Amino acid sequence: MEVALAYSPMLDAYDLGPEHPFKPERVTLAVAMMRENGLIAEGALRPIEFASAAPDDLLRVHAPEYVELVMRASGPGGLRRAQAGIGPGDTPTFPGMHDAAALIVGATAAALRAVLSGEYTHALAPAGGLHHAHRDYASGFCVYNDIAVAIAEALERQPTLRILYIDIDAHHGDGVQDMFRAEPRVLTISLHEDGRYLFPGTGVVTERGEGPGLGSAINVPLPPLANDACYMLAFDEVVAPASRAFMPDVIVAQCGADAHWSDPLTNLGVTLHGFRALYGRLTTLADESCDGRLLATGGGGYSWQRIVPSAWTLLASALTGVTLPPALAEEPDAPALRADEALEATRAVIASLRDAGAV
Ligand SMILES: [Zn+2]
Repeated sequence: MEVALAYSPMLDAYDLGPEHPFKPERVTLAVAMMRENGLIAEGALRPIEFASAAPDDLLRVHAPEYVELVMRASGPGGLRRAQAGIGPGDTPTFPGMHDAAALIVGATAAALRAVLSGEYTHALAPAGGLHHAHRDYASGFCVYNDIAVAIAEALERQPTLRILYIDIDAHHGDGVQDMFRAEPRVLTISLHEDGRYLFPGTGVVTERGEGPGLGSAINVPLPPLANDACYMLAFDEVVAPASRAFMPDVIVAQCGADAHWSDPLTNLGVTLHGFRALYGRLTTLADESCDGRLLATGGGGYSWQRIVPSAWTLLASALTGVTLPPALAEEPDAPALRADEALEATRAVIASLRDAGAV
């Protein structure tokens, strides 16, 4: 199947510095591997045009004073002390930061438009997925929330749209959840490592949205060492039934690959086989729920050289339906995780979601 690919090497400009773990190379290497495997071709991934998001686009979800601050901080001097989450710390300033972040937003928004226009059924925005950015502050390496801007734009164009957001990044999708917490047309579901052990600390089962959006956020905090079986269980018992009940018109999936067992920033236990199975479930769910309409973005991934390229090439394979050599998902060094306790804990989380009436 022909799949829209919103990627250009210009997106590599979102570079927080040589010592920073969030590396643009994770995207570059992933796209290179997709190309090596023949996935950027007719009948598979097709590059689409996109432009930087304009300030007015960003203002759909971001505060004007925040966008102004980012613009000011993007000059050669940067910021001497951290303000609104940017500057010395997790999300350091760099020259051209506003332009680089706005280009990522433009790519994700174009990818969602490509799906909603009916031109493509699936789209991939591998540099997107900056799910921690909030309305008026940066967080967790994320300056602008490309996903939220894309969703807000889609709702403006088509006010009756129902959008399901599924976040399988190891970290809670706090920024996206927060921006749509009172919006009944957007259901956000985040599977993530329990916030007691991992940034950003939020994403408990009782966060369910607010006001008219009550019930439009679902959180599945998974225990450390949660493995493939835990993720499949959470997907099958929470994500799939929630999607059936919500009846979305399109699914937007944040596919950060940092739940991998080797990821240096997280404590989960997913393998490449597990990612492949999850991506397969995502496309199947989109087929069942919304005539296949699915935008997948990237996200985190700190085994950036060894794992992220393979994971996202498997994602591209699931989106295009092009089969890859099985060796791509083989990991002879994967530890045989004994995860009985994690599976028990996952069952308990799902039970508490049911008790809370969240699913
Ligand atoms: Zn992450």
